[in-house]
Amino acid sequence: MAINDDDDFLRAAIDEAEIPALLPALAQLTGDLSLLRDDLRPDPTDRFSPQGALGDEQLAAARELALRTLADWRDRGCPTAPKFADGQVRRLIEFTTSGALDDYLPLLVEELAHDGDPGRPDWTKAELAADAPLHVVIIGAGMSGLAAAHRLRQAGVPFEILEKNADVGGTWLENTYPGCRVDVTNHLYSFSFTGNHDWPGHFSTQRALLDYFRDFADEQDLKRHIRFGTEVVAAEYVEAEHCWELEVRDAGGSRRLRAQAVISAVGQLNRPSYPKISGLADFAGPSFHSARWDHDVDLTGKRVAVIGTGASAVQFVPIIAEQAAEVHLFQRTPPWLVPTPDYHDPVPSGLRWLLRNVPHYARWYRFWLFCRSAEGVLPAVAVDPDWAGDPRSVSARNEELRQLLVAYLEMSLPDDPELVRKITPQYPPAAKRMLRDNGTWPATLRQEDVHLVTEPIQEVTATGVRTTDGRQHDADVLILATGFQASNFLTPMRVTGRDGVDLHRRWGGDARAYLGITVPGFPNFFMIYGPNTNIVVNGSIIFFSECAVNYIVGCLRLLLERGSAALECRAEVHDGFNADVDRANLLMSWGKSTVHSWYKNEHGRVAQNWPFSLMEYWKRTKRPDPADFLLRGGGSE
Ligand code: NAP
Repeated sequence: MAINDDDDFLRAAIDEAEIPALLPALAQLTGDLSLLRDDLRPDPTDRFSPQGALGDEQLAAARELALRTLADWRDRGCPTAPKFADGQVRRLIEFTTSGALDDYLPLLVEELAHDGDPGRPDWTKAELAADAPLHVVIIGAGMSGLAAAHRLRQAGVPFEILEKNADVGGTWLENTYPGCRVDVTNHLYSFSFTGNHDWPGHFSTQRALLDYFRDFADEQDLKRHIRFGTEVVAAEYVEAEHCWELEVRDAGGSRRLRAQAVISAVGQLNRPSYPKISGLADFAGPSFHSARWDHDVDLTGKRVAVIGTGASAVQFVPIIAEQAAEVHLFQRTPPWLVPTPDYHDPVPSGLRWLLRNVPHYARWYRFWLFCRSAEGVLPAVAVDPDWAGDPRSVSARNEELRQLLVAYLEMSLPDDPELVRKITPQYPPAAKRMLRDNGTWPATLRQEDVHLVTEPIQEVTATGVRTTDGRQHDADVLILATGFQASNFLTPMRVTGRDGVDLHRRWGGDARAYLGITVPGFPNFFMIYGPNTNIVVNGSIIFFSECAVNYIVGCLRLLLERGSAALECRAEVHDGFNADVDRANLLMSWGKSTVHSWYKNEHGRVAQNWPFSLMEYWKRTKRPDPADFLLRGGGSE
C-alpha cells in the first residue's frame, strides 16, 4: 500500500478519523511506540462522548502527531510495516483500552487479528480422520449459515446448506421494507474474517448488507454448496446409525436426505408474528406484514394504518409518511430512543480514504468499536436488588440512563409536552430493545399527517381500525409491524431426537439449550443464535454467531479426534447452565421488568437473551469441554 497525497489532503482526512484507532494503527505502521502518549489515551468506557472522550486540545495534538507521522511515512516511500510481536500488540491494545478492559485482553488480541485469521480451525478432517463419515447439513444461508460454511470448508469437513429462499442473506434478504438498515455499527456488524470493511454508511442500508453477504458467498464460492428453494420440514435422529434423516421440500416435492450432523442457522427473527386482533381478515384494502413488504402496493396519497412501534416501524414510518396522505400509527408501548446523530450518515470520504489506504487502520477502527461496545451499557441495565428509587428504573445507573433518555425526548420536542408524554416509556431502559434515533422519529411523529394513536385497538374493520374509545381510523392500507415469533425457536420444523423425543414437545414453548447450541437427547444437532444468545445492549450478533460456529466446529473436531460417531450434551450440564442464565436474566432490566417484550416466551421466562458479558460467551465457546458430553458410536463404544 502506498500513498502520495499532499499534506492538506491528509489533514482533511485525519480530521474525520477516529483518533483512538488512528494512533495505534500508525504506531503499528511505523513501529514508533512513542505515539502512544499518556496524555492522548482514550476512554473506551465513555459511551456517550465521541473520540474516546478526548478533549479539544488532546484531539488537536493527536491530529498533528498523526499528520506528521503519516506524512513522514509517505516521504520515506511508504515502507512495509515492521512485524509486531504479540507483546508489542498488547501494548497498543492497552493504550487503546486505557486498562479498562484488562479482563478482555485474550479476547482483544484475537479480535484485533493482527496476524491473520485466529478463528480459522487449526486442523483439517483429512489430518484427523480422513475416512470418518462426516457430512454436515446447515439449515439456512443467512449470516450464521454462511459463517458456519466458511469454517467447515476451512476444516475440510464436507457440508451442504439447505436454504428455503432463492438467495443468501436470511433476514437481510427477507426484510425489504423502506428504510431498513442495520442498527449496530457496520464495521462491527461484519464477519471478522472478511477484509472488506468498506461500508457506505456507519449503519448501512439493507441493500448494502445483502450485497455484502451475496459478495461473500460468491467470493468464497459457497453457492455451489447451497440448495436454494429447499425447506427442511423435519429432522429425525436415526440412533442405530448415529445420523440425522431430514425431510426436505423443494420444487420437485418432498425428499429425504441424511447427514451425520445438523447445524440450524435459521435465526430468531424470521417468522412474522401476526397479531390476534379481531376483524383482521375483514380489512378490505391491501394488508401486509413489514417483513413481507408488498412493493406492488403504491402508498402515494393513501391513508395508511401501521400497527406497532418497534424497530421495524421506527425505520419505515418516516419514509412512508413522505408518500402517504396520512399515517395512523397505533402504539401500544413506546420504545426508548438512543440518540445516534450519525445513524443515517454516510461514512465521510476522509474516513473512508483512511480505512482504505492506511495499513492497519481498518482493523484498529473495528477494534476500537468493539472495545466501546464490548460491555456497552451493560452495567447500567443490571438490577440493583436494593434499589428503592423510581420504579421505572432498576438501579441508580439505570435511573441516570433513564433520565438521559427522557431528556433526549424533551429536547427533541421542546414545544410538545403532550407528545413527549405519549412517547416516554414507563418501563426501565433496556427492558425492551432500545432503538437508535437521529431526530427522525420525533420529527415524524409531529408531522400533521401522522397521527399517533395510543388508545388500545378494539378491532380492525373493513375500512380501518377502531380503538376502544369508539373512534374509527379510516385507512386504505394496513401494515403490521408486529414483530416475529422469536421464542418459537426452529418452528415450524419438526425435530425428533433420541428415543423419538419431539423437541417442541420437550420444550413446551420454553426453549432451552446449553450455550444456545446443544440440547440433551439431540446428538450432533447444533444451533447458532439459539435460546438465550441474543445480546441486548452490547456487541454485534455476528460476533456471537462466530463464537457458536467456533464451538460447533470444536465439537466436530472432538468427534473426529475420539473416533466417535455422536456427541450429546449431558443433562446436568445443560440444566446447570440454564439455572445460571435464568438467575442472571432476572438481575437484568429485561428480566425484572414486567413489560411485554419479545425477549420473553409465553411462560414469561427470558428465553432469548444472554445476560452475561461478551467475554463470557467467547470464553465458554472457545472450545468444548469433553466432560460436558456423552460420546457414542465408533471408537467410543
Ligand atoms: P417488535 O420490536 O417486536 O415490535 C412489534 C410492535 O408491534 C411493538 O410495538 C408491539 O407492541 C406491537 N404489537 C404487537 N402485537 C400487537 C397488537 N396485538 N396490538 C398492538 N400492537 C402490537 O418487532 P420489530 O419492530 O419487527 O423488531 C423485532 C426485532 O427485530 C428488533 O427488536 C430487532 O432485534 C430486530 N430488528 C432489527 C432491526 C435493525 O437492526 N435494523 C430492524 C428491525 C428489526 P408492544 O411493544 O406493546 O408489544
